[in-house]
Amino acid sequence: MSQTDIRTKIMTELTLYNSLKREKEVFKPMDPKRVTMYNCGPTVYSYAHIGNARAAVVADVLFRVLRHIYGKDCVKYARNLTDVDDKIIAAAKETGFPMYEITEKFAKIYQDDLAALNCLPPTSEPKATEHIGGMIALIETLLADGYAYESDGHVFFDVSKYDEYGQLSGNTLDALKKGDRVGEGEVARKKQSADFVLWKPERDGVGWNAPFGRGRPGWHIECSAMAKSELGETIDIHCGGVDLKFPHHENEIAQSNCAHGKPMANYWVHNEFLNMGKDKMSKSLGNVVLIRDLLKDWDGEVIRLALLKAHYRSELIWSENLLKESKKNLDDWYRVKNDCMRFAPNVKSKGNAETIDFFDDLDTPNLIKFLSDTGALQSLRNRLVHEGMTMQVQLEMQDALVIGYGIWLRTANLLGLLQKDPEDWLRGKGKEGGLSDDAIDNLIKERAEVRAAKNWSRADEIRGIFAAENIILEDGKDGTTWRRG
Ligand code: AMP
Ligand code: ZN
Repeated sequence: MSQTDIRTKIMTELTLYNSLKREKEVFKPMDPKRVTMYNCGPTVYSYAHIGNARAAVVADVLFRVLRHIYGKDCVKYARNLTDVDDKIIAAAKETGFPMYEITEKFAKIYQDDLAALNCLPPTSEPKATEHIGGMIALIETLLADGYAYESDGHVFFDVSKYDEYGQLSGNTLDALKKGDRVGEGEVARKKQSADFVLWKPERDGVGWNAPFGRGRPGWHIECSAMAKSELGETIDIHCGGVDLKFPHHENEIAQSNCAHGKPMANYWVHNEFLNMGKDKMSKSLGNVVLIRDLLKDWDGEVIRLALLKAHYRSELIWSENLLKESKKNLDDWYRVKNDCMRFAPNVKSKGNAETIDFFDDLDTPNLIKFLSDTGALQSLRNRLVHEGMTMQVQLEMQDALVIGYGIWLRTANLLGLLQKDPEDWLRGKGKEGGLSDDAIDNLIKERAEVRAAKNWSRADEIRGIFAAENIILEDGKDGTTWRRG
């Protein structure tokens, strides 16, 4: 099979569960040279939790897969930052800091947290406050075309004007009696309770001039405007957590479809919740674990692998054990990487990977199973190390190892795993106040010297220091290597 055949085969094999159609579909981008995806990002006024991280990591895997199939420069991924919102305004009032200082600080923290989980930076990260003009233009179109109405300083979307309202979430208009998350006094101003706000009056000095009155945008219109400006009127894939299906995504669809007369997105991909026991992890329930806090004890790759252990459309129950198990997996895999790198130092992380089953709706558990199955690689490596063999057999084995290891490594790369140097990984970070890497290297040098000088008491002392610090030495023919146990 030629390279082109392989590409074509893989391209036709990516399927995604489309929440809008409620079925799995073969993914076909509108333009394979410009594949577009949008992900609803955070409201930046506090630290992100590990449930938020799940949504970001799932989107990152999808981004990596699309780049793998269509080429790295052919995928445009926008993830917004909501930097104007009632909660931010309240935080500014409470702390006395200007709004932008709060949002800049938490946007940076969010980006750093996700980078530690090996999430690639999206191709664009639009801020809501930089797209107010686009929001106003969209609202003007909706008003002009009769989909929206003004009421006492507010603008509302009239859901009765859009026949397909409720299609994504399955909510009928009757079921929507409770309406949207409503601001103060909004209910009395609406024609019907399911209508949602597009524009609301200035609050605490936060507002922009608009033809329909000075004010600030509703949450939903932000994403419609940013997706349009960054990616276009119709995008290929829109993602987010299932909690966003209604009302957020339902309302994005209503606004964008009515303003543009075409679908907002062709595929809607939603990740399930990360749960603490039976409950969704959420700020309102007070059961959150912050990414920031976890990173103090665990490497970002461990957290990432833990997040990928369940299929994105299944709930993931968070636990300490999940982290421990993921750490153990990665330790094993890094040992394999370390061993194989000696025989296959030039294997690249780009190229074909073991993707066929994975491409069926991003089956990450299946791919993790493949990564765990390292028996064949290890036996090749063991034979190369230990067995005397003819040059011919050795070369054949080495070829087999290069091919097998290449597929294995590139598969890990699709998941954003095994991105570190194996020696660094196996050595570990070390505890605060413990021996530094340099101190360990020096002690190993000294150990060799005192042994050569038959100074056994110092050699014993050094052995004691390593034992107390749980540092494991491995003497090999190329010298002594070490890792933290
Ligand atoms: P929020 O800041 O609450 O708007 O959430 C940002 C992203 O994280 C959205 O895509 C949410 O759907 C997602 N999200 C929030 N909580 C969870 C959770 N417990 N499990 C999975 N995804 C979540
Ligand atoms: Zn959104």
